Order: sequence, then structure tokens, then C-alpha cells
Amino acid sequence: MWLRTVLDYQAKTWLTADRAAQARRQRPGQAQEDQMTLQAAELIPYGGVEADAEWAREVRALAEQRDAVLLAHNYQIPEIQEIADHTGDSLALSRIAASSEASTIVFCGVHFMAETAKILAPHKTVLIPDARAGCSLADSITGAQLREWKAEHPGAVVVSYVNTTAEVKAETDICCTSSNAVDVVASIPADREVLFCPDQFLGAHVRRETGRDNVHVWAGECHVHAGINGPELADRAAENPDADLFIHPECGCATSALYLAGEGIVEPSRVKILSTGDMVHAARDTAATSVLVATEIGMLHQLRKAAPEIDFRAVNDRASCGYMKMITPAALLRSLREGADEVHVDLDTAARARASVQRMIEIGNPGGDE
Ligand code: SF4
Repeated sequence: MWLRTVLDYQAKTWLTADRAAQARRQRPGQAQEDQMTLQAAELIPYGGVEADAEWAREVRALAEQRDAVLLAHNYQIPEIQEIADHTGDSLALSRIAASSEASTIVFCGVHFMAETAKILAPHKTVLIPDARAGCSLADSITGAQLREWKAEHPGAVVVSYVNTTAEVKAETDICCTSSNAVDVVASIPADREVLFCPDQFLGAHVRRETGRDNVHVWAGECHVHAGINGPELADRAAENPDADLFIHPECGCATSALYLAGEGIVEPSRVKILSTGDMVHAARDTAATSVLVATEIGMLHQLRKAAPEIDFRAVNDRASCGYMKMITPAALLRSLREGADEVHVDLDTAARARASVQRMIEIGNPGGDE
């Protein structure tokens, strides 16, 4: 019964005329098809290398020879997180890339993240160990699609989540993270239309929190986060009545979690909607002895390191991003040996994209994000 109510609520929140219009551009189930495309394309990760002590020595020696800093996103495999100089969410890592004295950045994450590092550090060499590591959410909208959408809403302000390509950021007025998306939209005059892309779940969260009905939400999604759903969350919450719930707002279950809290099915104070960076802080602060985590399972490594006494469990232990896992020990070694794959963003696109990121930073604390 509650599920039906949640779905009705979601329908009211999301199924706007915009979404219907977008359906012409993006078919239902496209994200799942993207995942199938990934499999069908047989993107076989580089392999055949063990992450042993010899590998670690060679990686460190090559990084030094290249004057490179190694950055690893929170969703990377533990071996990559452990060899990196810094781990974190994508924006925090991009800021480290910009402020680092190293002349080369090796970004262990997906392609749009390495692009963001290049946008913020245009004169540095930015390498990604496997340029095929894409992102179904960033691929939800192209620069051409955004230009077409803008033409349908002249005068609207474009707000884009940082999980977007450089081309989309260059067409954007203000970027946002999951931490400050609500503040960014709230800073826009109430009578201005807002085009929010690409994540429909984060967009629904923004519409709900700001109470604005002139926020048009693009129907994009991440196939990993969309797979973490409300019924699964309700089951896990019922099985673990004392656990806190750490939920990334891109998750399909975020709305359900708020509904469960509102109905008193779980205590509201147990539900925490957090960026991945904020999850690490919350892990250090919570008094709970167990925590259910609704995001990509790579996040569990940093949470367990931050608070080893807490029992962290995934809401969906199959929520693994195949793109993130393409950054293997073999791929990192190849990257450092060959100086591959280099990320390029033309200077004009980078300048326009950087302006949208800087406006985000001026409006409020962007905190962390995915
Ligand atoms: S988990 Fe989803 S949003 Fe994150 S990189 Fe993978 S496909 Fe993109």
C-alpha cells in the first residue's frame, strides 16, 4: 500500500509535461539499455596484473617520474583507493587537481570527472587510466539536446549536476552538486524558469525542497543508482530497525526514504540524504552501530575505514558501477607507463564550463557530490 502511495507521489512530482516531452528524446528504460550496451560492446577492462607489492612499487615509482598525483574516486576498487594520494568525491578531487603542484593528474574515475579536473586545471596533463570509462548519467544528455531544450524555454536558467560532460557544462549557467543543488536553485529569482539536468531523482528532490513548480527536470538517470529502489530500502530498513540510512539523492529510493520517514515507518532522524563526501563525515559523527548505505558499493571501503566499529551494509549489494570498475591495476600501470589516456578539452569549451562551475562555488558551499 505504501509503495502505491509512493509511486503516486512520484508520479505527481516527476511526470510533468516536461518529462513527457523528454520521452520523445529519451525512451523509457534507456538507462538499462545503456548498461546492456556496455555489456554488448564488450568493454573488456585491461587485466592480467595483480595489485601486489611489486605493482605498488612500480606505480609509485612511475608516478614520481611523471611528477603525477594519483586521485581515486570513492567508487574505485579498494586497491586503487589505497594506492592513490587522495580519495574523495569528484569535485573535491578536481579541486585537489587544480591546487596540486604536480604537473600531471592521474584521475582514477570516469571520463566526465577527469574532464572536470582538466576544466579546473587546463594547463596540466590529465590522464585517465581507461578513457572508455563513461557514465550513464552524464550520457543522459548531450550538448545538442541541451541546446534544443534551451530553445524551447528562452530565458530559463540552466542548472546542471556536475555529472555532465564538458560540452554540457559549457551550455550551463550554474553547476551544482547534490549538496548544494537546492541552494543553487533557491538563489534563482522565483519568476525565472529553471532547466535542471540530467538527474531526475535529484531534480525531484530539488522541486520538493524549493516548492517551485517552474523547475523543469530532465529525465536522466544513472543505471546504478536507479537500481536501488524503494521496496528494497523498505525491506532492509525493516530487517535492521536500529540502523541509520545513508542515502545518496540520486538513488531511486531517496523519495521513498523521505516517505518512510514522513509516515513514521522509520524514525526521521535515521534517514540522512547525503553526498558521498558527506557520508564519510556522517560516519564519524553517528551514534548508530549499523548503517544501511544506498549508493554505489565502492563507497563502503571509505566508510569502513572512517568508522571501523560500525556495521555498514549496502541496501543493494549489486549496485556496482561497471564503468568505475574499468580502472583496474593493469589500466593504472598502463596509464603511467604510456602516458595514456590523455584527456583534452578545447580552451573555449573549458572556459565556458569553468564559469558555470565557478558560479556554483560563489553561490554556496558545494560540499561534496558523487
Ligand atoms: S555510478 Fe552512475 S553516476 Fe556514478 S559514474 Fe557510474 S554510471 Fe555514472
